[in-house]
Amino acid sequence: MRPFMFERADSPSAAILAATGRAQGSGQAQFLAGGTTLIDLMKLDVMRPEVVIDINALERTPLGRIDADASRLRLGALVRMADAADHPVVRRDYPVIAQSLMLAASAQLRNMGSLGGNVLQRTRCTYFRDVSYAACNKRSPGSGCAAMDGINRMHAVLGTSDQCIATYPGDFAQALIALDGGVEVIGPEGSRSLPFAALHRMPGDAPDIETTLQPGEIISSFVVPATPWTRRSFFVKVRDRESYEFAVASAAVALDLVDGLVRTSRIALGGVATVPWRAGRAEDTLSGKPINQSTARAAAEAAFATAHPCEHNAFKIELGKRTLVRALQGAAALPV
Ligand code: FAD
Ligand code: SF4
Repeated sequence: MRPFMFERADSPSAAILAATGRAQGSGQAQFLAGGTTLIDLMKLDVMRPEVVIDINALERTPLGRIDADASRLRLGALVRMADAADHPVVRRDYPVIAQSLMLAASAQLRNMGSLGGNVLQRTRCTYFRDVSYAACNKRSPGSGCAAMDGINRMHAVLGTSDQCIATYPGDFAQALIALDGGVEVIGPEGSRSLPFAALHRMPGDAPDIETTLQPGEIISSFVVPATPWTRRSFFVKVRDRESYEFAVASAAVALDLVDGLVRTSRIALGGVATVPWRAGRAEDTLSGKPINQSTARAAAEAAFATAHPCEHNAFKIELGKRTLVRALQGAAALPV
């Protein structure tokens, strides 16, 4: 048994105070929301926080609410995945968000898991989650990477480094990228906002530092601007079994079509990259064009032009391209 302190925070400032002074990035202080991934990792001895701060009482604050108006959708970080997926405005006006959440995990997990915890879940790399493997730069900086010469079928082909090739596992994050979402954060220095795309860090030479959150900071909400084209958004997830499984490849797409031609497109890829991946090059290829088999395939080729496979995961490149083609065609066909 590894001892740790447990605190219940009844206000955001109490939660921040409990975490301040401890390097949250290094895992010394952890906030507890649904606990569906933090507790697993503590039991596996992968995460060893000195203090666990239960923030569930903050559900009574804006962290637990969904607000929508003509200009934006705001999802509190403590909103449960199932509640966001089932919200009528989310389903009607931001379908890619509802789809990404409904295709994640299981009903029980969606009832417990919060949106904030979802975006901060850690990789499912087997070597990261099993401490009997000594070599994992993400878990023990400088120890090496067992996946590089191990079984790397589920690992990333985009955004990798020679230190880490672990895949970012979540689904909701791709929807936020496709809708140009933002994150609101509160911390010891006050509150700040950042584009969601700036939350996660690529592994580079420090795979243990996964986000740009500062010590003591809490995600308070996710904000998605209301544009006319959020309704033309679509999520495709390909996995090893029909349900209750992480993505092998996924694509979240939002399209602004005028007279059948793409004015703006947003493309995010999951299951294939180290972070929620914005496929900017693919978006550029679509500008001013209709969505058909040939333009969608050209976008998919551009999306994976820089892909770098390992021994067992080269199949993800073709699978990822086909997944993106399906998502683009699905979004274009929506009766918006
Ligand atoms: P917690 O476990 O409470 O916290 C996770 C992390 O986030 C902790 O480090 C915690 O400190 C931090 N944290 C939580 N809230 C905040 C906040 N507001 N501010 C700052 N830090 C915070 N997910 C998918 O997307 N797709 C899947 O297919 C999928 N399948 C799964 C299958 C299984 C078997 C399991 C166990 C999980 C699966 N998940 C999947 C992951 C699941 O969705 C997450 O476990 C869940 O969303 C995490 O939310 P939580 O509230 O339980 O987080
Ligand atoms: Fe660790 Fe990353 Fe290598 Fe997996 S891929 S063993 S998480 S360093």
